[in-house]
Amino acid sequence: MKKGIFEERWRRTKYCGHVRGTDEGENIVLNGWVRRRRDLGGLIFIELWDHTGLVQVVFNPEEDPNLHEEAKSLRSEYVVAIKGKVRRRPEGTENPSLETGEWEVIAEEMVILSSAELPPFDLWDTDKVYENLRLQYRYLDIRRSQMQEALRLRSAVASFTRNFLGARGFIEVETPMLTKSTPEGARDFLVPSRLAPGKFYALPQSPQLFKQILMVGGVDRYYQIAKCFRDEDLRADRQPEFTQIDIEMSFITEEDVIELIEEYMVGLFEAVIGVALERPFVRLSYKEAIERFGSDKPDLRIPLEIKDLTPIFSSTSFVPFVKVLEGGGTIRGLLVPGGGELSRKELAELEDYAKELGAKGMVPCPFKEQNMKGPLAKKLSDEEKHNLVEQLHMKDGDLLLIVADTDFKKACEILGQIRIKVANRLGLIEEDSWKVLWVTDFPLLEWDEEEGRWVSIHHPFTAPKNEDLELLPKDPGKVRSRAYDIVLNGNEIGGGSIRIHDAGVQRMLFEALSITPEKAKERFGFLLEALSYGTPPHGGIALGLDRLVMLLGKKKSIREVIAFPKTQRGQCLMTGAPSDVEESQLEELFIKLKEEAKDGADVC
Ligand code: ASP
Repeated sequence: MKKGIFEERWRRTKYCGHVRGTDEGENIVLNGWVRRRRDLGGLIFIELWDHTGLVQVVFNPEEDPNLHEEAKSLRSEYVVAIKGKVRRRPEGTENPSLETGEWEVIAEEMVILSSAELPPFDLWDTDKVYENLRLQYRYLDIRRSQMQEALRLRSAVASFTRNFLGARGFIEVETPMLTKSTPEGARDFLVPSRLAPGKFYALPQSPQLFKQILMVGGVDRYYQIAKCFRDEDLRADRQPEFTQIDIEMSFITEEDVIELIEEYMVGLFEAVIGVALERPFVRLSYKEAIERFGSDKPDLRIPLEIKDLTPIFSSTSFVPFVKVLEGGGTIRGLLVPGGGELSRKELAELEDYAKELGAKGMVPCPFKEQNMKGPLAKKLSDEEKHNLVEQLHMKDGDLLLIVADTDFKKACEILGQIRIKVANRLGLIEEDSWKVLWVTDFPLLEWDEEEGRWVSIHHPFTAPKNEDLELLPKDPGKVRSRAYDIVLNGNEIGGGSIRIHDAGVQRMLFEALSITPEKAKERFGFLLEALSYGTPPHGGIALGLDRLVMLLGKKKSIREVIAFPKTQRGQCLMTGAPSDVEESQLEELFIKLKEEAKDGADVC
């Protein structure tokens, strides 16, 4: 195989995927990768690929025996430039699955620009490929149409975002990567400083403090497509570095942010996937979301709601319920239309799942032949049964699942998880619909058992509702915040708040969080100081770009929409990061590794 040089005459005149009938009879130059070669009846066919698609190229020994001979050396993923003439494929040989499938290019000249090893997996059919292999050879993986589409979709979302916000007076400001620990509550990634030995920068968990300081600086409307870093144990679908569309505005209320983001989402969906979202988006208070759906990010594509059965059982004699009610608890039910088709085994599995989630028990009550069945039916009074059937509109084939607990939130959240599980099992999710909603009125703080103190649900710069402010020193758990989350199909895709813009209120909050004035000064002194120099009321939001693109692209994981993602263990399989460094690099940083760290001990 003789490799050639890429000269001017080999510059492409057409992309592979763009060859059409209007090119018939034309001489064109294509540049691309050989995806597949087939030798058939003396002819050689290759499918030539570039990011726009595939086109068939034919080498005919009768037209040019030397070129045909050379084509025999072509292998998958060789890079070539080909000159040839476009013609309609002979009748019966068209390929309707290709956009170029009615035409082919008869090769007249070719230069091989690069050879290729045999790829470690088939680039056509990666569904069956072990993901780690795809990540190790990401450059090959990226040559697949699915990855190309995902990256282009991501780019379209980023462009739309910049245009949309730019047109509304937002300016993009970059904030530092090497900074001080920020307050989102996760573990920081630390970077040792050579110039200040023994001191560390932290990579930002978000640009939160900087964007607030930009408001103090009079920027008025800021945005940034910002990288954020959180050193968490990587649950399910998280990445140690991820991207936010980060926004902050001055002299506004919650309604301004909600209005902006609704307009943005409607425009985005229309522009990138041609879907019309309905406005205004649904709004639920946190309490209502938990009560009705058992989640603060409910998937409203599931047509099931949790009901409060406590009044029906107010004078019950069923002992477990009596005990829960005496303890001030709640009895909640989830009616599953068609749930009667679940087998005994499946019901038992559901009950086990509820127990895993912390339920003392979950009682399944099937409804058949106009009657309640199951073990509970015998224990309830006729009136209780009648009320259940009437109030829940139970029909034959339905299934009622009941959870009772002294902890209201726990009872609802257990049924919330069960709701998702049964909906999946019974195919109740409206897969093709898009359900967006706002969740508001979150509590400002929650009690952290482990730490034995109140902690912020969002972050400590979230403003309390004005009317709840006086509760802050007395009853912190009752204070509601001015935060809002946006949820799409059961995924939290963003969240934000109106911020505290008064240094005094900010100090009060640190106090409620048991952050001493000294500690507050050490960590956030610069913010407190900034707040004391004339701060406009302000607020904002951050949308998770990775998750948004994943949902728009109907992908199962955010790794499918990130060019170079990390594994669940935080590794980049392509580059091998994280990796050892030279002893001399450590010396410069005055760092000495502990013995057990030297062999890369597995601490997870
Ligand atoms: N900085 C917040 C976060 O990363 C978002 C915000 O409050 O704007 O969750």
